Amino acid sequence: MIDFRSDTVTKPSKQMLDAMMNAVVGDDVFNEDPTVKELQDHTAKLFGMEAGLFCPSGTMCNQIAIKAHTQPLDEIICDGYSHIYNYENGMWAMASGVSLRLINTDDGIINAQQVEAQIQPDHDWLPETSMVVIENTCNRAGGTVYPLKTMQALSESCKANKLKFHLDGARVFNALATGKYEAKDLHGLFDSISICLSKGLGAPIGSVLIGSNAFIKKARKLRKAFGGGMRQVGLIAAAGLYAIKNNANRVVIDNENALKLGAALTQSNSVEYVRPIETNIVIYKIKDSLDDADYIEQLKQKGIIAISFGGNMVRLVTHLNIDDAMMEKAMDVLKIV
Ligand SMILES: *Cc1c(COP(=O)(O)O)cnc(C)c1O
Repeated sequence: MIDFRSDTVTKPSKQMLDAMMNAVVGDDVFNEDPTVKELQDHTAKLFGMEAGLFCPSGTMCNQIAIKAHTQPLDEIICDGYSHIYNYENGMWAMASGVSLRLINTDDGIINAQQVEAQIQPDHDWLPETSMVVIENTCNRAGGTVYPLKTMQALSESCKANKLKFHLDGARVFNALATGKYEAKDLHGLFDSISICLSKGLGAPIGSVLIGSNAFIKKARKLRKAFGGGMRQVGLIAAAGLYAIKNNANRVVIDNENALKLGAALTQSNSVEYVRPIETNIVIYKIKDSLDDADYIEQLKQKGIIAISFGGNMVRLVTHLNIDDAMMEKAMDVLKIV
């Protein structure tokens, strides 16, 4: 089976498993695991932040950031496509007691003018806007990439309006792989960034939340409260460290493979259109005369696993366990099904 459901389905390589077996570990709740510390410091430094925090999931990173940056009854501005809104069980409401104000876009990219238009005036009956969250790349919009200028303008606007600015960078390395900007160009733009190790980077588990020393101090406490304090977790952090050092640059291949799948799809009679492909996510619409469950089943019969995105939309995601032979086969199948 060629599994395009998500870039989370990858298995650790032999080298990654070796790194895990050789990890030097300690009790990380006592802040004594050298491998975890190295992963946190390495990631923070890459993006120009003071400190990092290894968490079990990207959802926990995002929810810790929301809790650390807001007070109950505050409001957060984000895109309607955002992961925090769609795929985190509405946890912002329970854990932080805040509301979300959505900006609905076509491409998952919000700009400073749109944000400024949504900042609440100071009235007794309105929530206080205190945070902006963006997602780069934006999953639900099809792996779209934020232009650097847009992020810079948003950052300026957040500073001017005293709003915290968080980047859900689950797939930030796919954005960097487009070559439009580098990690160092993001230095100073955000109050916090969440980065997934278990997507394009190919580690089995984990995300890193990065920010200032003061923010991470608060985040450590919250991680413990959320049940995310882990002990000799250097075993897992070693995989993340291996991934970030060895797999970050190869994400370029995933982005190229997605373009190839897109090209094959445009030759299929079943496909109405393919959304613009910017990174490793391909979202396309099949014809209204077809049934998406039936279409996905037919792909499966021919060895390809995809997922439905609703409304006859289908998603394919490329990743490091997709090799050239799989790509050849997949392109053939996608043209004919
Ligand atoms: C996958 C993902 C997350 C985090 O997911 P977990 O499964 O909790 O690690 C966060 N944001 C985006 C955009 C994602 O794609």
